[in-house]
Amino acid sequence: MWRVDLHTHSVASGHAYSTVAELAEAGAATGLEAIGITDHGPGLPQGPHVFHFSNLYRLREWRGACALLPGVEEDLAGPEGELYLPEEVLKQLDIVLVGVHPYGWAEKETAARVTRSLLKAMENPLVKGVTHPVNTWLRLDVKEIVKAAKDTHTAVELNLSKVAGLESELRQFLEWVEDYEAPLMVNSDAHIAAEVGCWGRAAELLPMIPMARVINRSLAAVCDFFGCQMPRYANEEVSV
Ligand SMILES: [Zn+2]
Ligand SMILES: [Zn+2]
Repeated sequence: MWRVDLHTHSVASGHAYSTVAELAEAGAATGLEAIGITDHGPGLPQGPHVFHFSNLYRLREWRGACALLPGVEEDLAGPEGELYLPEEVLKQLDIVLVGVHPYGWAEKETAARVTRSLLKAMENPLVKGVTHPVNTWLRLDVKEIVKAAKDTHTAVELNLSKVAGLESELRQFLEWVEDYEAPLMVNSDAHIAAEVGCWGRAAELLPMIPMARVINRSLAAVCDFFGCQMPRYANEEVSV
């Protein structure tokens, strides 16, 4: 199945329960080549301070069967696609994803204004993915987001922690992904190690997933899409 899980949270997110080492070990046990460590940005309650992200390059020193890719799941900080982390910090990360959560700037905004801001954020060349466009708390204009994905080189996410109750919306979403040739990522959004690479949760939607569009199928495909370096010790035999 897919060899990279691009969206996982460590204890640094405050409401997630595994360390990066535990996440990596779970990734290795499920046969993954790499995982993205994408803790929430500083705009979400409990989100780590900017220092967490400016220091995250140290993940590249991890030696193990499953490599770690430094990243973030950012939130919108304003109506024009603004983000919470400064550009110079975002530039240091491999996996910059943006998602909408019912906190921060987006909390009191309409779905239309949030969609507009998200479309602006997708135009930011540092932003390479949008997490859970289909969710239960804010009905974004998913069709417009999927339509913008190809031209802005932004992957849209099938989020496996948000499937129950959203099956029909997700089927429609996957149809649009195919129609508009959108880059797609399928991720766990793990908040505990046991959820890493939980591809079984995609079983019901599997016939609808356009496999050729899944960018997290391999680490090489991920590095190509995100324009990031192959992790230093990836695929290296580990000797202790
Ligand atoms: Zn979270
Ligand atoms: Zn997340």
